[in-house]
Amino acid sequence: MDNYDDSALSALLKNQFGYDDFRAGQLEIIREIQGGNDVLAVMPTGAGKSLCYQFPAITASYKTIIISPLVALMENQVAGLAENGIKVSAVHSGQAREQNVEQWRDFAAGRTKILYLSPERLMQPRMLKALQGLQIGLFVVDEAHCISKWGADFRPDYEELSQLKSLFPHATIAAFTATADQGTRQDIIKKLMHGRGAVFVKGFDRPNLSLNVYPMENFRPSLLSILESHRNASGIIYCLSRANTEDLAAWLGEHGFAAIAYHAGKSPEYRRDAQNQFMTADSMIMVATIAFGMGIDKPDIRFVIHANLPSSIEAFYQEIGRAGRDGGEAKTFLFYGLNDVMKRQRMIFDGDGTQNHKILEYKRLEALIGYCETTACRRLALLSYFDEDAEICGNCDNCLAPPEVEDCSEIAKLILACIAESGQFFGITHIIDVLRGANTAKIGEREHYNLACYAQAKTYPKSTLKSIIRQLIAHNAIKVNLAKYGALQITEKGKSLAEDREKFMAKPYKIEPIETKTPPTPQQPEQIQNPELLKALKQLRLKIARERNKPAFTIFSDKTLIQMANQTPKTKSEFLAINGVGQQKLDEFFECFVEIINSES
Ligand code: ADP
Ligand code: MG
Ligand code: ZN
Repeated sequence: MDNYDDSALSALLKNQFGYDDFRAGQLEIIREIQGGNDVLAVMPTGAGKSLCYQFPAITASYKTIIISPLVALMENQVAGLAENGIKVSAVHSGQAREQNVEQWRDFAAGRTKILYLSPERLMQPRMLKALQGLQIGLFVVDEAHCISKWGADFRPDYEELSQLKSLFPHATIAAFTATADQGTRQDIIKKLMHGRGAVFVKGFDRPNLSLNVYPMENFRPSLLSILESHRNASGIIYCLSRANTEDLAAWLGEHGFAAIAYHAGKSPEYRRDAQNQFMTADSMIMVATIAFGMGIDKPDIRFVIHANLPSSIEAFYQEIGRAGRDGGEAKTFLFYGLNDVMKRQRMIFDGDGTQNHKILEYKRLEALIGYCETTACRRLALLSYFDEDAEICGNCDNCLAPPEVEDCSEIAKLILACIAESGQFFGITHIIDVLRGANTAKIGEREHYNLACYAQAKTYPKSTLKSIIRQLIAHNAIKVNLAKYGALQITEKGKSLAEDREKFMAKPYKIEPIETKTPPTPQQPEQIQNPELLKALKQLRLKIARERNKPAFTIFSDKTLIQMANQTPKTKSEFLAINGVGQQKLDEFFECFVEIINSES
């Protein structure tokens, strides 16, 4: 029905959205939807999924329903589209009833072509009936992994969407998600598309993100040195608990950093305000639990730091995916320590999922530990998890400074012996105490000073022993038995090490001073030739953003401002040639931005 050739699509892209080129996968997916085929697109956060469905929705003659799980996500998209001069409707619980009624009328009367809805609103019988009369050609299900019990964020509301295909057999269904392993993908296709839908997996490789893992032992000093090298940039620090976010934000404040705490225990006003500050500011640190992030679309986040272990590789990828959306260089740091691994195991163990679910969760955790412990390229480790092929990145900590692995069989055997001699009943702390010849009450009570391994590793620092144990766990030579309060137990592989049938190669553990190296970034972001002008342009953007109470990036992204500062466009056609400037933004912003450009250059 709505056929355009590639050049017509490109012209529409520029005119409606202000972008010069489609990103990886976008055109293919748009074509597929325009052809009336059901699709499931798996693309990472920030890859540009919204455009894949907004574009066909805008250019089609039919009406489109976009289903989204969060009010914040809808509000962001509605605001973003409005900035580009595209009016759409949204009905959700974040708006007053009258406003919802008005939005619905606009849509029903054809004044808008797109309606954003939450799944529970869509599936109300009255709504379904009303929609039957309206020629809906396309249903978009965003964050589609929520439909699957295999996925990380199952939502019962989403499961109701399984009826869509039968209720609207002639409409196209397009589902989007950043996180779906094989099982989840199949589940989505089965439920939403009766098993018939094309799957696209695109764009997981994010060469502009550099991946780094640091030992937890040196957390606060390392953190300061990372932040020091990111002054004047914005970033997120993820913590496991609400209390951690408060402590850390306060402590960073004392050290002269602009940091705010964010978690689900804060009031809605506080959270909205914190988000807005973060979105409009040029340099700010958000210290948050995972409650922060969904719907956050700030393109110039320069770093994401995990102060604690994330819950899975999917979650980790999604969280780091918030960095560097503008394509510029961004860094990620994960602090990794054994306590967190144990905490995660404990959470899974105590959780109320079924046994199968728990096994799955342990597997996910193992994959994550594997990522932390790998001595090879971290990008390879990450992408192989998502089934996307990749080359060695040359940009992660392991690529930049390949860790030396040594034969650690002797100390590994000593640890295994200690676990065996004490009956596989004890946790890490006690095992280390025995090996180092400590004089604790527990050692006294159990008479463990009589064990052959007592004090045999007294020359090893605690941190080294911890690291070796961590690596033994990662190599599946030891497992932590949670039913026995974290007792370390020896696996088949462990036995084979203990009996000298194989060697244990590991990273000898040292606490190293953190240097900030300059990596050879594969895709250098645009050089800044005119920092003064750029600063003035950013100030103007901030002023406009504040006046409109909008996030700064909805005005222009950093990347667009950098191009402006470098190319100093003076005429309308030069201004329009900047990537990120479309017709609407030309009309609105040409005058004020060019005024600054003229006065500063
Ligand atoms: P996702 O939903 O996949 O996480 P979004 O759709 O929110 O990602 O897009 C992320 C960012 O990329 C947004 O700022 C968006 O405007 C931008 N973007 C999308 N497509 C393009 C494109 N073709 N060129 C430049 N920027 C784009
Ligand atoms: Mg999205
Ligand atoms: Zn690498």
